[in-house]
Amino acid sequence: MDIKVCKFGGTSMADGNIMRRAADIVRADPQRRYVVVSAPGKRFGGDVKITDLLYRCHDLASSGEDFGEIFSRVRARFEGIEKEIGKDVGMRGELDRIEKEIRAGAGRDYCASRGEYLAARVMSALLGWPFVDAKDVVFFSAEGTLDDESYIKAAAALRRYPNAVIPGFYGSGADGKIKTFSRGGSDISGSVVARAVRASLYENWTDVSGFFACDPRIVSSPECIREVSYQELRELSYMGANVLHSESIFPVRSAGIPIRICNTFRPEDEGTLIVSSARRSRSGGAVTGIAGKKDFTVIFLEKSMMNGEIGFAEKVLGILSRYGVSFEHLPTGIDTLSIVIDDKYLAGGVLEKIVSDIRAEVRPDSVRTHEGIALVATVGHGMANAVGTAARLFRSLSDAGINVIMIDQGSSELNIIVGVDNADCADCIRAVYREFFRA
Ligand code: ASP
Repeated sequence: MDIKVCKFGGTSMADGNIMRRAADIVRADPQRRYVVVSAPGKRFGGDVKITDLLYRCHDLASSGEDFGEIFSRVRARFEGIEKEIGKDVGMRGELDRIEKEIRAGAGRDYCASRGEYLAARVMSALLGWPFVDAKDVVFFSAEGTLDDESYIKAAAALRRYPNAVIPGFYGSGADGKIKTFSRGGSDISGSVVARAVRASLYENWTDVSGFFACDPRIVSSPECIREVSYQELRELSYMGANVLHSESIFPVRSAGIPIRICNTFRPEDEGTLIVSSARRSRSGGAVTGIAGKKDFTVIFLEKSMMNGEIGFAEKVLGILSRYGVSFEHLPTGIDTLSIVIDDKYLAGGVLEKIVSDIRAEVRPDSVRTHEGIALVATVGHGMANAVGTAARLFRSLSDAGINVIMIDQGSSELNIIVGVDNADCADCIRAVYREFFRA
């Protein structure tokens, strides 16, 4: 029988009643055999996620302050959930133990991971399925990245159970201690489990009915994308379309397992199906989606005969790596090179130091910087074959009076990225959306 892995996000775990709804979804399809859960998220605007409370507990405890009040909020949430589901899950004992561990100096990742751990305990009781700890399923390398051994070890740990519930977000670090992914990382855990059990589908249950063609805070009621490739999605989610963690596609992509984004609150909706690029190139319109991200800086370099100077780019990139700075894009011309860098790397005078080292070491004719840039990506496999897509894109921007500071088309014909002023980001997205979706 085909196996489906279901991952439920924080809003699908927000309280006991919603958890019951998630359990009903799982029970409705016997192929849904492995469940990965996030920690309870926000129940309403202004509410605080369990993970955030746990980080605060750790930070207070490690600076010698009292974390009792914050921990009592974690306690109240989980004891409330236990009441709502009407089952004794042993929450009190679990919470006492966790509180003691935080007091005794447990690590930051360990503390943060307890939200997923407890949520999985609840789901395991609700479904009557075994709990398999993520520390036996997900493993990190010494560099802190996902270790490929995870698939083999996870397969061995899960093979013994026809059904299981696994906490998301964490696993075992190379030192044997609990380590977490970056925020939102339960999506990656779900993907690891799907690959390990050779699932036919990875269902990612959240609170929206799939991926929108652009941010609904920018364009009201944008179209929902029915089908998107892993690659298109990677581009869109890297650029800020954050339904799914941008790294979560890697484990399933190489195994060819599709992902479906589903809505726990509207399970009948079709959602978005994420499939291989090969399948997508045969279907769909020119543009699949548009996404934007603010706060980049571009360093523009000009030097006559740059194309003939062996090692020019290597020297420039060497300077960046000396400062621990990675770059996002590197559009080049014959005599020009532009480097797009995320502002998070450049605070505290780093930009000035890089520019001065570039002047001294590669002696360009000119170096300019442009700060406060937003990148807007127009993404779609169909662009490769649709004549005039770029013309339509740039006409829509000029009609909207938007000044394009930089253009990068990458090498995949999947993506056209424009750099505009931060202040123009939303207008830029609106203009492109109007051109391709509401023409
Ligand atoms: N609970 C974690 C977070 O809030 C991980 C996750 O939900 O995927 O980031």
